[in-house]
Amino acid sequence: MTTRIRRYVETDTGHRVPNHKSKCRHFHGHRYRFEAEIEGDIVETTGVSEEGMLMDFSDVSHILTVYIHDVVDHAFVVYEGDEEARNVLSGLSPEHRTVVVPFIPTAENFAKWAFEQVQPHIQTAYGNRLRLVAMHVRETPKSWASWYA
Ligand SMILES: [Zn+2]
Repeated sequence: MTTRIRRYVETDTGHRVPNHKSKCRHFHGHRYRFEAEIEGDIVETTGVSEEGMLMDFSDVSHILTVYIHDVVDHAFVVYEGDEEARNVLSGLSPEHRTVVVPFIPTAENFAKWAFEQVQPHIQTAYGNRLRLVAMHVRETPKSWASWYA
């Protein structure tokens, strides 16, 4: 028997896919949704705040906010190998939020990145079994990618 919970955070994030055959090579952005899926056992410790929960949704939300939202929201994410885009971005004022990553910023790669950002922080104080099983990323209302452990 196992239970799963999900919680998401949304960001407004710019990117481009430098080698794309069509319009995704242009600078643009999306309202991304990063949704964590967590599996585990329910806390049975009597009288604690998390009794009856896998993990407090607000604690999951806090982790998503700190390690995903606050990193890429209102930022432009650029692949370290995208020299053309990096040259353009380096000409902007230092306050411009540019995030250089070692991968082409597709939904698939964002899902793996977000999983690795969040995974080490999924825990409670009660020793119940908890595991981040997937990170789901919505790039558009019709387009999702998932990374599974
Ligand atoms: Zn895009």
